[in-house]
Amino acid sequence: MNQLRLQELLAREHARFLSRTPTSRALLNERARSLPQGVASSFQSYQPYPLTIDQAQGATVTDADGNEYLDLHAGFGANVFGHAHPAIVKAATEQIAAGAHYAHPTRALAPYAEHLCERFDLDLVRLCNSGTEATMDAIRLARAFTGRDLIVRMEGSYHGHYDGLLISMKPLLTAVGEPPRPGVWANSEGIPHSMMGDVIPLSFNDARTIRQVLREQPVAAVIVEPVLCNLGLVQPVNGYLAALRDACDETGTVLIWDQVKTAATVSWGGAGDLYPLGLADLHCFGKAIGGGFPVGAYGGRADIMQLVTDGRVPGYGTFNGNPVTVAAGLAALTEVLTPGAYERFDEHHARIIPALESIIGEYELPCHAAALGAKGGLMFAPRMPRDYRDYLRLTDHTLALAAWLHLANRGILLAPGSDEQWTLPVCLTDQQADRIIGAYAALAADLAA
Ligand code: PMP
Repeated sequence: MNQLRLQELLAREHARFLSRTPTSRALLNERARSLPQGVASSFQSYQPYPLTIDQAQGATVTDADGNEYLDLHAGFGANVFGHAHPAIVKAATEQIAAGAHYAHPTRALAPYAEHLCERFDLDLVRLCNSGTEATMDAIRLARAFTGRDLIVRMEGSYHGHYDGLLISMKPLLTAVGEPPRPGVWANSEGIPHSMMGDVIPLSFNDARTIRQVLREQPVAAVIVEPVLCNLGLVQPVNGYLAALRDACDETGTVLIWDQVKTAATVSWGGAGDLYPLGLADLHCFGKAIGGGFPVGAYGGRADIMQLVTDGRVPGYGTFNGNPVTVAAGLAALTEVLTPGAYERFDEHHARIIPALESIIGEYELPCHAAALGAKGGLMFAPRMPRDYRDYLRLTDHTLALAAWLHLANRGILLAPGSDEQWTLPVCLTDQQADRIIGAYAALAADLAA
């Protein structure tokens, strides 16, 4: 990689972004008077500044300056069903017209929950309002079920902004020491020290150390993203998830899969379709299962969920099972995200990934391409990392930023940051898939110019 060329391109694309999006910049300044960072979530704050979106339809979003983008950001992976799908609009608006919130069950709740149970192989499910609530509640449930406090989590995973899991999310390496047993690190100030001692951070794809740790100490739960979707797209090595399953069975530890990003995206049935031998005891959901409305859910084995049934571990929430979320989620899952949708994703990726690989080869880019169902992308590491440390060592973050700007300036919106991936919308056309390939070819040619 010619670093001088990369810096030139970065400066040019940065300037171009600024000149194309003055309204977004002005609106950010206006919002910053009342909102920290001018946004509603710290993840929405990115460089140079976040676009303000005025509207979206199908596979595209339009920003406040009228620029249209093919939306592969997809609201951090939630909008796999595309924007304003008629079936979801109908279900949601009919429900809004009949009242948006009752804090009572609606008729759609049973078919929605039954669908979740069938699709993700759960005995019982409890709804909540975000992925964070799902992981927080699932952890409490696992602790109650086992009578233990310790939690194992993998460095580099994100499990939401609950205090107990905002520990060693993306640790500062100089502060935590080396694997196989790194120390803990708080990803925010304000995390109680008392909670830090209950978290054991380990490396993804290292089954040996997990087995040792579980044999040595009484661990309540291992929580893991079956595919790391917060380090690009890091897949488990052969046998890793099955080994986790075995180690948890041997030691009576609850295995929790955080499927907030994988559910209804990597496959119809989420990660369970891909790794049936590693199937978890509890699963956490969010994002794509709510049709674009705030949602979360957790569920799994009947004997563990029994603690919710009998009130020993209540699952609270004013907006749990919100009627609009349930109506929209049911329409999204049963009418839009059907098995055929996943065949389409595979068809798209069967064309896109080899095309990206040939671009990578031709221009000798330090990148690799990966895909699973609707998720994929060109990642800025020469091969798929094994874990967080590997990801940090291999990833070219400057190239990632330059690529993000280059694509945004040409009407393709990706989630910012090298730790994200794209999410294809169901309605993506072949022409739009070709645009993605063309955009990366243009980026590569520009880098080589
Ligand atoms: N788990 C994973 C794997 C996630 O990616 C996220 C959000 N990116 C969460 C949990 C938290 O979900 P939410 O933002 O809905 O709280």
